[in-house]
This record gives sequence, C-alpha cells and structure tokens, in this order.
Amino acid sequence: MSDVAYEPVIGLEIHVQLSTRTKMFCSCALSFGEPPNTRTCPVCLGLPGTLPVANAQAIHYGLMIGLALGGDLAPRSVFHRKNYFYPDLPKGYQISQYDEPLCRGGRLGDVRIHRVHVEEDAAKLIHVGASGRIHGSDASVVDFNRGGTPLAEIVTEPDLRAAQDAAEWLRLLRTTLRRLGVSDVNMEEGSLRCDANISIRPAGSQELGTKTELKNMNSFRFIERGIRAEVARQERLLRDGEAVVQETLHFDPRTEAITSLRSKEEAHDYRYFPEPDLVPVTISAEMLERAGAAMPELPADRARRFERELGLTADSARLLAWRSELGDFFEAALAADSTEPQPLANWMSELVARLDTDDPAASKVAPGALATLVGMVTRREVTQNAAKRVLDRLVAEGGDPAAIVEAEGLRAIGGGDELEPLVQAALDANPDVVAKLRTGNAKPMGVIVGHVMRETKGRADGGEVTRIVRAKLGL
Ligand code: ADP
Ligand code: MG
Ligand code: ZN
Repeated sequence: MSDVAYEPVIGLEIHVQLSTRTKMFCSCALSFGEPPNTRTCPVCLGLPGTLPVANAQAIHYGLMIGLALGGDLAPRSVFHRKNYFYPDLPKGYQISQYDEPLCRGGRLGDVRIHRVHVEEDAAKLIHVGASGRIHGSDASVVDFNRGGTPLAEIVTEPDLRAAQDAAEWLRLLRTTLRRLGVSDVNMEEGSLRCDANISIRPAGSQELGTKTELKNMNSFRFIERGIRAEVARQERLLRDGEAVVQETLHFDPRTEAITSLRSKEEAHDYRYFPEPDLVPVTISAEMLERAGAAMPELPADRARRFERELGLTADSARLLAWRSELGDFFEAALAADSTEPQPLANWMSELVARLDTDDPAASKVAPGALATLVGMVTRREVTQNAAKRVLDRLVAEGGDPAAIVEAEGLRAIGGGDELEPLVQAALDANPDVVAKLRTGNAKPMGVIVGHVMRETKGRADGGEVTRIVRAKLGL
C-alpha cells in the first residue's frame, strides 16, 4: 500500500483586523505601534464593573464582508463568551460569536465560505529572551494596545486541494478585503492572519481524514511552505502505518520544523455562553442597505467585466482582477491610449516578469508608455523581440517607447515595399531552398526568415517575410 497517492484537503480560518477608528467594545483608538499599554481603558483591560458596547462600524464592516462573499446575513446574531485562561486575555474570556454568527455560507472563487463572524482580538504577548532580561530573568510581557481590536473571522469549507491554491486563494481574499476598505490586510503586521486546517486522503476518496491545524502563519510564502511541509509529514505517517493525530501545530519558517502546540481543543472546552452584558445584534434594513451601497466592484466582478466587455481570456482577466494593483495599471494604460485589450494584457505579464515589486505603479514604466509600446507592436511598427528590448529599457530607466525605438534603431522593417527587396535577396542567395519550397516542402522557410532577420538585425516580422515568400513563389 506504500504507493497510494494522497490528496491534500485544506480549509482556512482567517482573522482580519478591521480598520475602525475605535476598538470592538470600548472607545480606545486602535493602535499602530504606539508605546505599549498607552491605548487601554478599564473595559479593554477587563477591570471589574465595566460594560462593553458593540462597535457599529465593525458590524457594518462585517456585513460588507458577508455581502462580498455572498453569504446569508443573519437578521439577528449573538455575542458569546469563549472562556479560556491566557495572559493576553485579561477578562479570562474572549467576546466572540458562536452558534449565531453574523453571516453563514457564501463563496469566493472556487472555495465555499462556512461562516463570517466578528470578535475582539487578544492582547500581544512579547517573549523577552536572555538578551532582554526583566528583573534578571527571562519573561513574557503583555502589550494591551492590541487587546479589543475588532476582528472578522472568515472560515472556509475544506475545498482547497493544494498549498499553492491556498496561497493563491488567500491573495484573492486579500484583494477583495482591500477593495472593500475594511482592513489594511497586511500579513507582516498581523492585520491578516491565517490558520490552515490540513488533512490528506487517498486520491479519489470522498471521506475526510483527521486534520491538524497550522497556526498563525504571517506571509503567503510561509503558508505555502507550511502546508506543503505538513502534507509531507502526514504522508510519511500514513505510509509508515501510523495515524495522524488531531492537534494544533506550529510551523517554523526558518527550519521548516513542525512542532505540536497542544492537542486539539473542542468547543465544549471553552464553555461558550451568551454574553450577558451585550444585547443581540439586530440587523435592520437600513444597515443592510448601507452595507450594499458601500460595496465597490469586487475582483470577481472585475474579472467578469474584463472577460465580457474587453474580451480578455479567462486567465488574463483573472490575473489582472485578482491582483488589483495589476488591474488598476491595466485600466490606466487602456485609458491613456486606445490599445487592444488582449495584447495589452499579454504585455502586462511581460512587465510583471521584469519587476521586483508587486505593484507596477511603483515602477518606472508609466501605464501610457506600456500602452504606446503595445500599440506599436499591434501595428507592426516594432517586432515582439524588439519590443521586449524596449520594455527592458523602460523598466530600467522609464521614458517614452517611441523615442527609445528611434534612438536604438528598432523600428520594424515594415510593409511589403521595404521588405520585398530583402526577401528577394534572401531567395537569390538560397536557390536550393527555393527549389525545396517549390516542391511543397515548407521546412526550409526558416532559412529565408533567418537570412532576412540577420540582414535587418531582427527588425523584420517573420510572419510578414513568410507571407512575401509565399506570394513570390506562388505557394
Ligand atoms: P473545529 O471544530 O475543529 O474548529 P471546524 O469544523 O469548525 O473544525 O472547521 C474548522 C476549519 O477546518 C474549517 O476551515 C474547515 O473547512 C476545516 N476542516 C474541517 N475538517 C477538515 C478536514 N478533515 N481536513 C481539512 N480541513 C478541515
Ligand atoms: Mg473552529
Ligand atoms: Zn479600551
């Protein structure tokens, strides 16, 4: 049985810090790197006798997320206490949602959404190692600035089948959330955090295997590598005849080591019960209307529009729409110069491949410059190869593509008039090739094209050369 092929099954739980002005249940401002414990109050410090009040803007953002993911928004939802002890949780419980979340169901791309709810973030524990001793001993210190920050938790169904797909889908989710304007969605800074639930099963099986949970991965690369490492670990276990144990794991991106944090807790371990200090959230028609009115064009809609209205292939539409900075650059280029959309989309890929930033707007290439270059290619004023050299220069130093073409003498040997004598010369120089072509053997056409290319230093269009040869030889 050691050659069984296994299929990974992955579901994600994503925590998003909502960029409201104040915290989830008190009026403290959200903190962005302020000195520790300067953004706190008796409510978010969990002092006795204080009462929480739910942040209406956080609920609004939660509704927008639910709408964007196509879920069912609950007319009424309830806050629950999730009880556990940890130093980053001053009350001894987290106010979250349990069996009556803000939103159930939905879908984004190929992945079904299980639910979306809102809750409060825990404080930040900072472990002070040997290099930063407090009172002479190693310690952990707590910064309560983060405690009480509004979070949306988004839980997917186990619909992902590969590490790379999980990372790609998470990028789509990030783009969607960024478009909504509900969060900074910055993984490095922790405003977007992802836990991955992972199991494997024999390919073709419909049953779910025992899952493990990889906690708190803070970059797309780590998520992909972490999932890959955990899938490999589970495969090794099963091939050795051992069982996967349901537990919560930590992935160390430096060493790729996976270590157990704790055996998996069950819901009843948290003694969930309805938060007695908060009334249930009632979603009015006005709140729904306001959330709907705030909805921008989302990446999935944008991809559809690129396909339907601009005639892009599904792959191009998806590439540009799922990474909104690419879509924005593409649309800016289209607006700057009336270029054909599909060739422009193809050249976006050429551009991206040459950049070391994610955002072409941060490069030296102006959207209009790319559009102008693509226009020159489609009008056959420059060949593909020459245009790639122009693009190299645009990426290196910016500028105007037409000027670069003139300065480097890259203008294509255009039209029949200019090419015709060059093709004739190539035919005259290769009578044996001409004889073969006449017998219907098209193979040596490359000799003629190559000859013309050498003479023109690559500025001739190979297709055009072929066309002229055929016309001349009556093929
Ligand atoms: P738990 O009760 O352990 O929190 P849930 O059923 O709430 O588990 O699911 C949590 C996450 O784990 C969801 O994203 C879900 O899609 C995913 N998941 C559930 N079962 C599996 C499985 N067997 N393999 C991979 N992911 C799973
Ligand atoms: Mg869960
Ligand atoms: Zn507070």
